[in-house]
Amino acid sequence: MLIVKKFGGSSVADKERIFNVAQRCIEDYKKGHDVVVVLSAMGKTTDHLLAQAAEINPAASKRELDMLLVTGEQVSVALMAMAMQALGVNAISLNAHQVMMHTNSAYGTAKLRRIDSMRIRNELDAGKIVVITGFQGVNRKDDMTTLGRGGSDTTAVAIAAALHADKCEIYTDVDGVYTADPRIVPNARKLPEVSYSEMLEFATLGAKVLHNRSVELAKKYGVELIVRSSMNHEEGTIVKEDVKLMERMLVSGVAADENTARISVIGLKDTPGIAFRIFNTLAKHNINIDIILQSVGRDGTKDISFTVAKTDLQDALELIRENLTSFTAERYEYEEDVAKVSIIGAGMTSNPGVAARMFEALSNSNINIKMISTSEIRITVLIDQADVKRAMRAVHDAFDLGAE
Ligand code: ASP
Ligand code: MG
Repeated sequence: MLIVKKFGGSSVADKERIFNVAQRCIEDYKKGHDVVVVLSAMGKTTDHLLAQAAEINPAASKRELDMLLVTGEQVSVALMAMAMQALGVNAISLNAHQVMMHTNSAYGTAKLRRIDSMRIRNELDAGKIVVITGFQGVNRKDDMTTLGRGGSDTTAVAIAAALHADKCEIYTDVDGVYTADPRIVPNARKLPEVSYSEMLEFATLGAKVLHNRSVELAKKYGVELIVRSSMNHEEGTIVKEDVKLMERMLVSGVAADENTARISVIGLKDTPGIAFRIFNTLAKHNINIDIILQSVGRDGTKDISFTVAKTDLQDALELIRENLTSFTAERYEYEEDVAKVSIIGAGMTSNPGVAARMFEALSNSNINIKMISTSEIRITVLIDQADVKRAMRAVHDAFDLGAE
């Protein structure tokens, strides 16, 4: 069996943890499996490197930032290979250049294009555990790139897909995917399985267990993922195709996203093309829009409200100010102290009462809903940020998601 095992920064934060990870990999290796290990940088290394860069040059070029950031992963893989060797096992560390991890040129947010798996195969055939740097790539100019924060998950999935691995295990500092963040909802339960699409919603909504793109990639190539903790031997959560799920629940979990703000553009002319003008302007400046609500026109005018990431709010407001006349708007307003709470579940598609049950739970807790949006497997409400925790607990209870 060929197993890809990915360990995040906290799992390799110090010497003890590095040896712990080395042991876990060796266990599989000794059973006769081929083992490929993908690592993140140790602990908070990437944050520290970024802080260091900011001290030298707050406007550092993205190319040089990537040149700096890739060093983090290089340290962890070399130390890991040394640890394995110290334990008497043949191991080799490789970086993105050595395994030809091709990406596009977008420094800082590079996308993987292709992996030449030859080198990895050769080293496995020579009986070695292969330890590979996550997060990094090489572009056409032969420069180092990085895949974006948390990108090592994506490296692991890409390697698993390229090698047709039998298993891709993502080790992290949580036991798996939960029905809700256990720090907020104490009786949250670990899910034995979730589908790729549910996982994507969880990831998009800020449950930071897996890098979003790693889930997209896993879905595309049908790589089954196992999310589990490096600190214990619990089973973890399997992420796989919807049709293969054994346990099909109406709602799988509740997630919250506090990185959101609401903008309303008011008194717009009620004619064709206005929504296009607004959202096209924002899109051109790479501002992602989430929930959109348009009022019914009256007296020839209408209002449009939408949400953007809090981190994009200032940019969005500036664009709206600049274009107020061309948008035909009378004025705009915004609200920052808001958050999204969502329920996610592939089983809700064919069940009409789900939204009502969620809204009832919120209303019983006296929580006001400002906006609503739905997809086939998700219902999201925008509420006051101050109500998030109460809302999550109420909704979690309403769908009986907790452990007995
Ligand atoms: N070391 C990188 C980061 O901290 C990549 C990763 O951990 O996946 O974002
Ligand atoms: Mg991570």
